[in-house]
Amino acid sequence: MYIDEDEILAHISAKPFQLIAEAADELGVEVYVIGGYVRDIFLNRPSKDIDVVAVGSGIELARRVARKLGRGANLSVFKNFGTAQVKAGDLELEFVGARKESYSHDSRKPIVEDGTLEDDQNRRDFTINALAICLNKDRYGELVDPFGGLDDMDELTIRTPLDPDVTFSDDPLRMMRAIRFATQLGFFIEPETFDAISRNRERISIISKERIADELNKIVLAPKPSIGFDLLDKCGLLPLIFPELCALKGVETREGIGHKDNFAHTLMVLDRLSKTSDNLWLRWSALLHDIAKPATKRFDPRLGWTFHNHNFIGERMIPGIFRKMKLPMNEKMKYVQKMVSLHMRPIALSDDEVTDSAIRRLLFDAGDDIDDLMKLCEADITSKNPEKVRRFLENFRKVREKLADIEEKDRVRNFQPPVTGEEIMRTFGLPPSPPVGKLKEAIKNAILDGVIPNEYEAARRFLIEQAKTMGLTPVESPEGEG
Ligand code: ATP
Repeated sequence: MYIDEDEILAHISAKPFQLIAEAADELGVEVYVIGGYVRDIFLNRPSKDIDVVAVGSGIELARRVARKLGRGANLSVFKNFGTAQVKAGDLELEFVGARKESYSHDSRKPIVEDGTLEDDQNRRDFTINALAICLNKDRYGELVDPFGGLDDMDELTIRTPLDPDVTFSDDPLRMMRAIRFATQLGFFIEPETFDAISRNRERISIISKERIADELNKIVLAPKPSIGFDLLDKCGLLPLIFPELCALKGVETREGIGHKDNFAHTLMVLDRLSKTSDNLWLRWSALLHDIAKPATKRFDPRLGWTFHNHNFIGERMIPGIFRKMKLPMNEKMKYVQKMVSLHMRPIALSDDEVTDSAIRRLLFDAGDDIDDLMKLCEADITSKNPEKVRRFLENFRKVREKLADIEEKDRVRNFQPPVTGEEIMRTFGLPPSPPVGKLKEAIKNAILDGVIPNEYEAARRFLIEQAKTMGLTPVESPEGEG
């Protein structure tokens, strides 16, 4: 790759870089910017996190730089790790002394000793992440690229600097990082490097679930996430970290009837959705929308392959998957459950079923997440049959139109029944009991079916009528008035 020295200088022209240079020269230590920040200069990716390596004490250098920056800077020292952080404006500078690492078999935490720049570059995961730029005055802006990282960048290649078997066995998280970078950057993993991932895949067992989830989230958020999941599948990591997704693979044929490969379909849906949404949890919903298809698959000689209730079973599988993968067990998970359980609803609305009532119910169930749900459903249309696609898209157009109409007319999104359970109990002198729930449900259904408008007076009248059929008469009028 042609090195544009002006480009490099432009990226290290901010005041903190010059002060680092000054401070390092005063201390008589070599100093380099290294890693992601340098890589991202050449990839034109904006980056605010800057790793600085001193061949000497990183902490001492950071202290001096912070003093020079004065009141605008914020210094934090992590003595145990031998690192220090300086925040200056929107830049975050991470200081560390150059180090040499050696690993034991059962941990990704290395034994660390002081080292040279070369030692420090040797411990980096990929050639493109091992680039360093010198900041000392007499070498300001000099690029140190011992492993051909720049050429690899030109050839869009992820490669380990040293023997990949050693690199991956030492710290198996690097296998996930290789696939994550390939996905984020659209790079290829060099064959030797990729084969080493396959050979070392079982080593992933020493990595915490949280770190794996972190990398998976970055893959899910990439422009084309399928790249990562295909690579995870091909190297054999996928069954170890996400067996439920693996189980979607394959096509079975009976009596000449096959079904689609749900793994390929799921990845296609995820890629399609990623073009319209950056919402991590909506993307996870795409990944999980058909997760219960293997569990619900049946062959019916009359109907062919069926996956009855795969949406509801999928909804129920999600807490187990989230718990195991250390994904958040909170409202994010509930949102994914909701998307998975509802993902068939809009598509099930065939031409004549796009009734006001069906739309109101959809709005009621999806609430504020209706727009996300529609995006997921549109991404879910991966049929190769143009007539089918045309029909579905036409239906969705109708659904969206009606959604807008009904939303304006009835305000059923985030609907709360206009008559509360409290009021029902007071009106009929009832204790908390099944009839109260039944009456509440009847009011809700009447509104959603368009039998009565979403208004208090109408709901109250409907309540009295309905209660009469159950043999109940009011003991008290509304608000306890005469
Ligand atoms: P991103 O910010 O997208 O996560 P990055 O590479 O810019 O990627 P970090 O993950 O903070 O940021 O890593 C900074 C640098 O530290 C990397 O560029 C690499 O040189 C080195 N590094 C990070 N993790 C490892 C690892 N597990 N093994 C070896 N080197 C690593």
